[in-house]
Amino acid sequence: MLIAGNWKMFKGPAETGAFCRALRETDLPEDVDVVVCPPYVSLAAAVQALAGTEIGVFAQNVHWELEGPFTGEISAPMLAELGVYGALIAHSERRQFCGETDESARTRTRNALEYGLDVIVCVGETEWEREAGETEAVLRRQLADLEPNDRLVIAYEPVWAIGTGKTATPELAEHAHELIKSLVDVPVLYGGSVKPDNAAELMAQPAVDGALVGGASLDVESFGAICRAASPS
Ligand code: PEP
Repeated sequence: MLIAGNWKMFKGPAETGAFCRALRETDLPEDVDVVVCPPYVSLAAAVQALAGTEIGVFAQNVHWELEGPFTGEISAPMLAELGVYGALIAHSERRQFCGETDESARTRTRNALEYGLDVIVCVGETEWEREAGETEAVLRRQLADLEPNDRLVIAYEPVWAIGTGKTATPELAEHAHELIKSLVDVPVLYGGSVKPDNAAELMAQPAVDGALVGGASLDVESFGAICRAASPS
């Protein structure tokens, strides 16, 4: 099981340090891998505050080139030098607001993996695509050409469930995860309004290998509770 907290554009370095120090003191199950994904400027504070723990720090994006004239971008070697272990790639907010495409997501993923970062690639359909019966086609398109890799994890995040309080039913999530695993056989996280009170039911599905948590990961108590709910023991 892996529980990753996507902080989006929340928590600067001071708040990140305080959160991570509190997380160190929280009761976290040993059989759950825990990751936090702070904004770029807060990564160093997170790495420092979590040093010596098993809690991983991931970035929320990574450029596909190792260096070059890409103003405003951050590369895999820069993240690795900081002690960052991996990166989210192609979160739906980046697809929606920052021009991320299936092709750019593939290039980022391939190069980050090659450089030795762990990667969580986000996929998922919009409400309109689900209602039009296109979920499977969307997932196939988003996952095309991705090869299984020990460092690769996929997050299934139906866009209609992100930050909306509308969670996929466990059955719907299970069905989508089975399809994803049939296309790329790697662990698959569920994301979309995961909270302490719905986490256990979602995590109990056989094809659900953890969660990517947005809003509920911003609070130490609720994030800790989700990690404990994900523990199989
Ligand atoms: C996310 O940002 O990846 C996410 C799933 O958000 P939330 O948990 O707030 O729906």
